[in-house]
Amino acid sequence: MSRVTGDDATYRAQIARLFERSPFYRDKLRAVGFDAAEKVGGLERIAELPFTEKDELRKSQTEHPPLGSHAAIDISQAARIYSTSGTSGAPLYIPLTEADIRDWLEIARASYSRNGLKAGDRLVTTYGAGPLVAGATLAAFEAIGVTHVPVGAGNTERLLAALRLLRPQALACTPSYAMYIAEAAEAKGWPVKQAGVERILVAGEPGGGEESFRRKIEAAFGARVYEVMGIGDIAASLWGECEAQSGMHFSGGGIIHAELVDPESGKPVPLADGATGELAYTHLRREAAPLLRFRSRDHVRVWASRCACGADTLRVRCIGRTDDMLIVRGVNVFPSAVREVVARFAPRVTGAVQIRPRARGVKQEPPLPVLVEVADGQGADPVLAASIAKEIRDTLVFTPEVRLVAPQALPRSDYKSKLVDFTESS
Ligand SMILES: [Zn+2]
Repeated sequence: MSRVTGDDATYRAQIARLFERSPFYRDKLRAVGFDAAEKVGGLERIAELPFTEKDELRKSQTEHPPLGSHAAIDISQAARIYSTSGTSGAPLYIPLTEADIRDWLEIARASYSRNGLKAGDRLVTTYGAGPLVAGATLAAFEAIGVTHVPVGAGNTERLLAALRLLRPQALACTPSYAMYIAEAAEAKGWPVKQAGVERILVAGEPGGGEESFRRKIEAAFGARVYEVMGIGDIAASLWGECEAQSGMHFSGGGIIHAELVDPESGKPVPLADGATGELAYTHLRREAAPLLRFRSRDHVRVWASRCACGADTLRVRCIGRTDDMLIVRGVNVFPSAVREVVARFAPRVTGAVQIRPRARGVKQEPPLPVLVEVADGQGADPVLAASIAKEIRDTLVFTPEVRLVAPQALPRSDYKSKLVDFTESS
């Protein structure tokens, strides 16, 4: 495939290719009245096109194995195939051609360079090489020229030893794990601050963008936290935060088109400072499994103005994922937002929270039970519980039932924290 330049030209070429090679998109576009690529027009008319949902891709793959009718290549042309973890149903296989892999590498390299990672830095990582798309990120670290020390997840002992002995400038992990590492080190009487880590690169879940959670990690390590966010179906490490720490910059320019949409109506939301909505992505030149207006289920706040670092690419902060969202009497509640509010009460709380809904499913009646871990020596003070409940009500507009629990009573994770636990639901 020849590489045209300019987002609009690239997009038009991609639409033509979809008509030619992807039965899924040919049918999908025909169903809404576009029977030829020319009729679809350019990027300025993209909002006229239907969205793509993850469930459609699963269905497409189940009905047309192995890659699904949305794929635009034969499986023999794929250089790599990732699979998603499949929390809801069968895993989805995501093929990449060699050119697609090169694009992913460039995107991830840009995002991690924004984080301040540079050649010669020692970097300890806790990501496995596969089957998760985090594996793609490892090549980006190599491309930047860091001295990479992969220790993987699940062995905190070994990780602490690596921090102590190799004294890396940077550590890459999920924000939950960063917190866990700090607590584990503290428990061993070796405050992790002594490792001298300068930057913690967090990805994999929204916590890194929560101001109070981030400050806590920064204080524990004596380091700065920089966030990265990707999405397996589109590209790994698609957004990366710069030294100004004011949101993650978009790294997919020329390769991916990002839109902000209203999660309920699907209508486009203008990209202005402070605007919120769900991200939808379109691959401008993906060869293997190109997606059109893919609903990410990531809710973000955006900034379109120039950043203090000088770059004027779009910036975002993740608010939460639709998949984790609960609705309490019509109010959308993101568990990560609850955690952020609770963390304002540090050092009287550890920052760990868990929501235990009474009912299965998304819709909940107030009060919504929220378990909050208190710090050592704090005790179950009803006045504290009432203040936390009031702060949640005032900030997030729903009524919680705050239950204080002992330090370390809630589960810790070396990957993603489970913020909602349905075991008490009926
Ligand atoms: Zn910046």
